[in-house]
Amino acid sequence: MTTPTTSAPLLEVFASIQGEGRFVGEAQTFLRLRGCPLRCRWCDTPNSWRLSANDRARIALSDAPPRRDPSWVTPFQAACLIAEVEPGAPRTVSVTGGEPLLWPEFVRALKAMIAPRRLHLETGGGHPRTLASVIDRCDHVSLDLKLDSDLDAPVELELPAGFDAPGITDERAPRSAEEWKRAREQCLALVSGRDACGKVVVSGGRSLQDFVPLFDEVEACAPELPLYLQPVTPRNGVKAPTATEIEAVMEAARDRDLNVRVVPQMHRAMGIP
Ligand code: SF4
Repeated sequence: MTTPTTSAPLLEVFASIQGEGRFVGEAQTFLRLRGCPLRCRWCDTPNSWRLSANDRARIALSDAPPRRDPSWVTPFQAACLIAEVEPGAPRTVSVTGGEPLLWPEFVRALKAMIAPRRLHLETGGGHPRTLASVIDRCDHVSLDLKLDSDLDAPVELELPAGFDAPGITDERAPRSAEEWKRAREQCLALVSGRDACGKVVVSGGRSLQDFVPLFDEVEACAPELPLYLQPVTPRNGVKAPTATEIEAVMEAARDRDLNVRVVPQMHRAMGIP
């Protein structure tokens, strides 16, 4: 099966409240795409990593049980689904994943389809060249800044047998600490001066030294960027940081005059998706 260039595989679409980053607390509609080559140890959506021929998308209707639709959608179909799940007035749309930058043609075309809604992009930060190709269509970018010690080796996305997806990015995920440093610096330079924020997940037991390269890079490439420290929600053996640990990380950022705040995952606290 050959999918249109602008199509992307959808995992789910739902209306909820943004629980992370600069727009925490805002009513938004979430479009979660499938596919991610990264392997964050604390990932809370590992079901988004891979594709299969039988995938279906969860359409979380506000007035009926969820529906299961075909996974691959065009930007027009995605815009129709967004309007369908919104319980009231149009909301800002957060395109998340997975890693939505696997599907740059979809993201680029989506902006016009959902207007006048804002389009917010949530990215893992491993695809700077692809980010450069879509950033002008994004009203806000939430950029993950990941610690090397939080990442297992990436696994590039495999399409199901018989599938062809011409719209997928040809940019590979970083594979070494040097490649990650370069990717973070390039992404930070891209979002500098734009409507954007950086997000750093803080796990328990990490060395303060692990955070130093990230904060050095933010200070050098995007010193004004609002930076959100997000205490990890414990899973897969990854522990939450103690109050002492999170304060020490915050002070390390403040020492560099970074614009930093600590915000836990509010949607987890509220028990909503
Ligand atoms: S980038 Fe996101 S979806 Fe991918 S492994 Fe990390 S947390 Fe999970």
